[in-house]
Amino acid sequence: MQLNYNLDTSKNIITMARCIRTRNLEVYHKQRYGGNDLSNAKVLCETCRTVALTYGASGKAPPEFTKETKNAALKRARNQCECTWSGGCH
Ligand SMILES: [Zn+2]
Ligand SMILES: [Zn+2]
Repeated sequence: MQLNYNLDTSKNIITMARCIRTRNLEVYHKQRYGGNDLSNAKVLCETCRTVALTYGASGKAPPEFTKETKNAALKRARNQCECTWSGGCH
């Protein structure tokens, strides 16, 4: 299952689609079997991570990202949560 985070922000002002948290960030896989490249990395804060857990509750956990990939992902995200879901985590 792939969550849609390409939401049209102009239609989501009220729901505050973009998470702006910058603390407790972790790098997670966009897709469980999407590989270990930066393109499959997503920076999420602890709160959004808790919500996102529902998408990967079963099965084998994907391999860890390398430190380099994690650092690159955090840099790309400018050390901010990349979550844009409007599922109640913001
Ligand atoms: Zn967040
Ligand atoms: Zn979120």
